Amino acid sequence: MNRNESLTILYARAVQGRQHRTRVATQTSVSGVVFAVVAASLTCMLFAGAQVRADIPELFPPIRDRALAAGHYIGRFQARRSEQRLGVLHSMWRDRPGEVFAIRSEAECLGDLSRAGIRWQQLGIRTRRVPAAVAVQSSINGVRFRKKRPDAPLIVACELATRLHVLADIVARHGINEVEVMSAFRRVPTTSYHHVGLAIDVTRLSGENLDLHLIDHYQVTPFVGTCEGDPPSNPNAAILRAIACEAWETGVFSSVITPNYGRGHENHFHFDVRPNDSMRFLR
Ligand SMILES: [Zn+2]
Repeated sequence: MNRNESLTILYARAVQGRQHRTRVATQTSVSGVVFAVVAASLTCMLFAGAQVRADIPELFPPIRDRALAAGHYIGRFQARRSEQRLGVLHSMWRDRPGEVFAIRSEAECLGDLSRAGIRWQQLGIRTRRVPAAVAVQSSINGVRFRKKRPDAPLIVACELATRLHVLADIVARHGINEVEVMSAFRRVPTTSYHHVGLAIDVTRLSGENLDLHLIDHYQVTPFVGTCEGDPPSNPNAAILRAIACEAWETGVFSSVITPNYGRGHENHFHFDVRPNDSMRFLR
């Protein structure tokens, strides 16, 4: 290789290097421009989005109160539920518009419960279908409501807890101070008012000299209405019928179901309270 050839090669390399640097510089500046354009677009979109969101009114504001949210769930549950109490022989319906209630906020209902002197413990999110689920921890007007299963908590919706004094006062007049509850809140079936904490099943009522088991002492009347006809001659049966009929007369309970209902109700009273519903049912 002579000197001229060496100079030619060096020159060619220098030219290639300059071209490469120019290419890199061009690519870099193109990337920068693209990045800037994308960033600017995103910023504009975000800003515009925020503006649009601010302009749309909140048609369905989120329900932050858990009791009201559960009340909303119950409304949808009621709308899709088929009425199971129709066609029951010798049942009675009554319209009581004055007794209609709506689910209240947690604060309102729990405040009521405390003012009534009832000790309660609030439960958490695992019972989100139950408006203000509470475990009732004290007697109500001198009557103890206890679960049949030893040490199990009595869990109901606050709206039912605030109405239990009505039942307590009725049974107390008949010398009863303890009400055994077989079932209150339970998760299934989801067609039942138990799953929203608004129903209780009572299997046994006890007092100083009384121990009434629904399965043994309730006298069914298959051919006559529950509160029609003469009361049973057996005093224990008479007390149980009187309790059912007095609870029915108050209009507080949407359903008063006795062993007369049959079909799985042979051993208990079922009481429930149904929001936004004026109809009362007895069997
Ligand atoms: Zn029940």
